[in-house]
Amino acid sequence: MILDGTRIREKRLELLKEEIDESGLTPRLATVIVGNDPASELYVRMKHKACEQVHIGSVGITLPGSATTAEVIREVTALNGDPDISGILVQLPLPPQIDTLQVIESVAPAKDVDGFHPENLGRLFSGHPVFAPCTPLGIMNLLDEYGFGLAGMHAVVVGRSIEVGRPMGALLLSRDATVTTCHSKTRDLPAITSQADLLVVAIGKARFVGPSMVKEGAVVIDVGTNRADGVLCGDVDFDRVKDRASAITPVPGGVGPMTIATLMENTFFAAKRSLCPGAW
Ligand code: NAP
Repeated sequence: MILDGTRIREKRLELLKEEIDESGLTPRLATVIVGNDPASELYVRMKHKACEQVHIGSVGITLPGSATTAEVIREVTALNGDPDISGILVQLPLPPQIDTLQVIESVAPAKDVDGFHPENLGRLFSGHPVFAPCTPLGIMNLLDEYGFGLAGMHAVVVGRSIEVGRPMGALLLSRDATVTTCHSKTRDLPAITSQADLLVVAIGKARFVGPSMVKEGAVVIDVGTNRADGVLCGDVDFDRVKDRASAITPVPGGVGPMTIATLMENTFFAAKRSLCPGAW
């Protein structure tokens, strides 16, 4: 089975638009981009387009590639204090002169729709998430849409970044999967991945995972977004793995679309939550 993230995204965005229209709220997302990296610009454009689709307002702030940490934080702080802004997204990666962690920590946790602020990560890892990072949460939504029962599954996550691998493990654990996290220092990676009922790969290496690393009948989630020979491809060798897996996400059209849908859902959630007395 091919897990069709594009179809599920469209379905979820349609529902979200109806919910937003009925709510009477006017959620608004602010994006902050530093410099003119073409990939980052493309991602930000896609996010603004999705906002339009679901009737979320959006504001784009672009700073020059030479901006300092203080300049970026100044923009973020102004957005934190702007009551018309529900969610803030700082497009990563930031240029090397900028202290990324300081910038992430400057986003008000209540507007942190990317879920990267340590307060939100802390809540996630303590089992009480408010905002979870969009890519792993999108994967959970995709798995739920297809009705996979996760409890008791052996889930192997390859990659331990803050954006994907670590929160992915926490989300799966909170749903009673038995989670193993692997990384570049893991010994005998194939021996571990081939035990996985659910294999999530987020390493950024084109077609790294072949059939010998995958258990027959496993569910395979490919987070990787790589360019190889001018073609967009995942971390999994899709053509060789698809007949061994019981279900697999394609690249493109799998995890990527779910990430954007989840960002929209997080933004609406932020707008609703801002009305709750006592919520930070
Ligand atoms: P990252 O920050 O570079 O982290 C990569 C992780 O993979 C690290 O934990 C690294 O281990 C591990 N790794 C690298 N080589 C490995 C190997 N040979 N064996 C085992 N582990 C290995 O990357 P990321 O931000 O998590 O992104 C991963 C991929 O997902 C990239 O292709 C990215 O473009 C893509 N992505 C896609 C979406 C989407 O929406 N579709 C969203 C985010 C990211 P160490 O920690 O030991 O270095």
